[in-house]
Amino acid sequence: EAARYRERTPRSAALMAEAVRHLPGGDTRSTLFYPPYPLFIKHGEGCWLTDVDGHRLLDLSSNHTALVHGNRNPGVLAAVADQLTHGSCFPGPSATQVELAGLIHGRIPSVERLRFTNSGTEATLNAVRAARAFTGRGRFAKMEGGYHGSQDPMMVSTHPDPAAAGPLDCPRAVPSSLGLAPGTLEEVLVLPFNAVAETRALIEAHADGLAAVIVEPVQGSAGMIPAEPAFLAMLREVTAAHGILLIFDEVVCFRLAPGGAQAWYGIRPDLTCLGKMIGGGFPLGVFGGRADVMAQFDPREQVPRVPHPGSLNANPVSLRAGISALEQLDAGACDRINRLGERLRAGLQSLFDAHRLSARVTGAGSLFGIHFTGAPVRSYREVMGADPGRRHTLFLGLLNEGVMLDPRGAGCVSTAMGETEVERFLAATRRVLER
Ligand code: PMP
Repeated sequence: EAARYRERTPRSAALMAEAVRHLPGGDTRSTLFYPPYPLFIKHGEGCWLTDVDGHRLLDLSSNHTALVHGNRNPGVLAAVADQLTHGSCFPGPSATQVELAGLIHGRIPSVERLRFTNSGTEATLNAVRAARAFTGRGRFAKMEGGYHGSQDPMMVSTHPDPAAAGPLDCPRAVPSSLGLAPGTLEEVLVLPFNAVAETRALIEAHADGLAAVIVEPVQGSAGMIPAEPAFLAMLREVTAAHGILLIFDEVVCFRLAPGGAQAWYGIRPDLTCLGKMIGGGFPLGVFGGRADVMAQFDPREQVPRVPHPGSLNANPVSLRAGISALEQLDAGACDRINRLGERLRAGLQSLFDAHRLSARVTGAGSLFGIHFTGAPVRSYREVMGADPGRRHTLFLGLLNEGVMLDPRGAGCVSTAMGETEVERFLAATRRVLER
């Protein structure tokens, strides 16, 4: 597939050769690189992308789930164009911010108060800081394979090597980057996702020092692995019992229901983080939750106990895009993409089974992940045992067939898609498997 790919994409190859003269690796997002070089994209329209060589690709990435309504959504574009007639950012708060905050609060009752950031990374950074300030405790817990952004303490055990990961009942905190501040590993308790008894025991053993437990209800970067309801229920119970704040990172999985993943699971966290789709494809993040915790950010106190500055926080362009995206993601839209997602996952799994491939399709609602392993995938532990070579071959094969997934073999359905596009994707996958 790599030879075919090179043959089809000379302009991307030439751009990459030029790009690496200025940018290490040719780009600014580590997650976008794949060998031999990534496709350079020129245009997006609905669920279609056009690369610089003029190939059209069905977009099952939606910029890693951020474009829940696809590319150039007319409602989002109109809202942004209107905002730009007024300006892009101001040295004062906007009515637009109040509107989106009200919409989010109305849809997610646990988010009693909230603040806007420029990214999911900043949202989780501030949520954990708020939890530390509120509880007076220094450590927090995250899941093995959990991804919450690129700040130091979140770059622990995001994709640990099997040799370094340690036993299931006590996963080791493994740095996922060089250059982390001294002491970072000690700040973080790493928990085994979906292992109810083991995680409960670890939280209970370390409860006194823990400010928060942060979890993705559907692990995105690990490969779209949903939490089992009993796991989240246990987290809610054990954190409440020990005065630890429970943070849901719904940056990827908010799209499951109008009220987000917490409505889908029926669990009320203390704090919630949003990102990606919440800005309609523009930079925006949200953290919010209990009014007593969020009151720490209130500058009407003489000195806010937790400052939260940021020159482009709550950027009006992103806010307007976000309002449009959120209004379009109503119950009917969520239902429709969730049903298409179910069809897509079932179709993929039967294709793999028909070709006698050891492969598991994971996901929930409109989200899906592909793992080349025979074991049922319930956590990052099973992903560690999957075959990355096969996944990459399938990924490149699909690019050659005009389909764009995320390089880690994950993707999602957008509201710009219908049954035709799902069937087109399955047919493309069948051709790659046959090759
Ligand atoms: N949380 C989750 C679950 C994510 O998937 C991501 C990004 N992939 C982030 C947080 C960080 O968001 P951002 O890339 O906007 O900083």
